[in-house]
Amino acid sequence: MSTQFTQGDYLDMITEFTDQLQKTRTDMIENWHDPMSVSMNSFFEFAGIANSAVNTIAQQHAAALESFFPQTTANVATSGSAVTSQPDTGHVALVTGGIGGIGTDICRSLAKHGNKVIATFISFEAERAIEWQKERLEEGLDIHVVECDVTNYRACKKMAKELEAKYDSVDILVNCAGITRDSTLKKMEQENWHAVLDTNLDSVFNVTRSFINGMVKRQYGRIINISSVNGLKGQFGQTNYSAAKAGMVGFTKSLARELADGGITVNTVSPGYVGTSLVEAMPKEIVDSIVSTIPVGRLGKPSEIGDAVAFLAHTNSGYITGSDISVNGGLYMG
Ligand code: NDP
Repeated sequence: MSTQFTQGDYLDMITEFTDQLQKTRTDMIENWHDPMSVSMNSFFEFAGIANSAVNTIAQQHAAALESFFPQTTANVATSGSAVTSQPDTGHVALVTGGIGGIGTDICRSLAKHGNKVIATFISFEAERAIEWQKERLEEGLDIHVVECDVTNYRACKKMAKELEAKYDSVDILVNCAGITRDSTLKKMEQENWHAVLDTNLDSVFNVTRSFINGMVKRQYGRIINISSVNGLKGQFGQTNYSAAKAGMVGFTKSLARELADGGITVNTVSPGYVGTSLVEAMPKEIVDSIVSTIPVGRLGKPSEIGDAVAFLAHTNSGYITGSDISVNGGLYMG
């Protein structure tokens, strides 16, 4: 007599297989003593293949189960979220500033939606980038890292050439790298004006220009620029930052018009005050006074920015272009 497998049996088998693989990977990470980044990278690539295989198997099982047991497998999917119930179809995504506070959650969210994600870091952050990659792998997310100073156009072009050769295409681009150098205009040094404009605005040209021809050729792309509530409403002491972030909005709307009929969308996400380590390190009374001005009554979570980006990055979001999603708890309503 042949064994009858129930839905529960299948789920137990998938869970056991995934747990075993996860345990093996965790053991390998804990017992890894070679600090050479090259070796680490090859290990991560290996683990990535295993991770993709598990995701594919789990998704196939979920699809098969769904056809036998409709409406019962919603909790099985390995990716997808309340924002977009379907997993994406495995595009390649580049996130500049991806190892930063908000960038990390954007990477997490895109990876959980089934995309292959690559995060940029600056050369002096190399050790942190390796550590960051290891932490993501421990969460079950295989995210690659690439060194690039986004203020350097030639470096961006070189990165684009290398990534398109390695991954065939880069379909999702998230311009998230950014800095602040606050002071009133009366006291602002010219170098702080240029540093903020170079990093927050020129970088968007440098990176987008480097990847755009590939997207146009393939007739598909999702470009998401991380602006700020302060680019929309202005902020005392931030003429440089607000100018750069407002500039991103104009860039986005113009490029959206240029690319609208080519399968490429261009949008901004404008965060309000987000509880990254930077904000959380501020004195409590300052954080409290900021929170008292936010209608929702709390700081934003980095994952909430990640979810908004994943929504715009989704294949199903092809009719949204030239838009801004403000994720600011009602701080500014336009
Ligand atoms: P982080 O400083 O944590 O992240 C920014 C990342 O960009 C860092 O990893 C940083 O590297 C990197 N970066 C800076 N300069 C360059 C460069 N020249 N080339 C490549 N990478 C660079 O900040 P957040 O995560 O808080 O901010 C992310 C984005 O969100 C920014 O664009 C910011 O303006 C925007 N934003 C943030 C808000 C918040 O409340 N946190 C609110 C509104 C908008 P390094 O750490 O070495 O400097």
